Amino acid sequence: KKIIIAIDGYSSSGKSSMARALASAIGYRYIDSGAMYRAVTLWGMRHGMVENGNVDSEALVSALPGITIDFKPMPDGRQRTLLNGEDVEDEIRRLNVSNNVSQVSVIPEVRHRLVAMQQALGEGKGIVMDGRDIGTTVFPAAEMKVFVDASAETRAQRRFSELVDKGVPATYEEVLANVVHRDHIDETREESPLRKAGDAVSLDNSCMSIEEQNAWLLDLYNK
Ligand code: C5P
Repeated sequence: KKIIIAIDGYSSSGKSSMARALASAIGYRYIDSGAMYRAVTLWGMRHGMVENGNVDSEALVSALPGITIDFKPMPDGRQRTLLNGEDVEDEIRRLNVSNNVSQVSVIPEVRHRLVAMQQALGEGKGIVMDGRDIGTTVFPAAEMKVFVDASAETRAQRRFSELVDKGVPATYEEVLANVVHRDHIDETREESPLRKAGDAVSLDNSCMSIEEQNAWLLDLYNK
């Protein structure tokens, strides 16, 4: 039986929408671990501890006990991220948060706290969680692990279209630069860097439609 499903991969690889679709198909809870790193980043930005890629780690680490993150499930299967009770779902998706989040995610104490919260969310229930280190660090014993990849240009194009749809101002070039920069920091950090778990199944979805990738994932689950 597959209780914990870990979907890791690069930014904007489509892993969140795949993970969400699988969770809703099999009646599991979906958790977006990246939203938690984004929420901590937003908190730091609001309190002057995170700005232009510079992070006052010491101040942010001391503030961690006062930062709570929750998810509010919506009827359409999506979740809204709550930061100390406030709905920040739209704000954490903005480019200014994306531009700072990897620098916050390198801080070991931030990771330890969020990993503990993620593990607690997975206790005893079926969940699909997406992120960078779910199959390696958060749930090394997950019964199903997938590592999703696609070219940086494909991923930037997807992210750019998403932002345009939402009316968020951005150019393709800045989105591509952000994707490449974020991947680099995620891959080279010391604490749980982004990498494929040895027992994860790889998927390059560059040439797949959303329907095809969802079907692929459901198929893997049913095997
Ligand atoms: O998934 P998303 O792109 O929203 O994640 C935002 C950032 O949060 C990533 O670029 C990465 O720096 C960080 N992250 C992480 N570990 C996770 C999920 C996200 O370090 N499990």
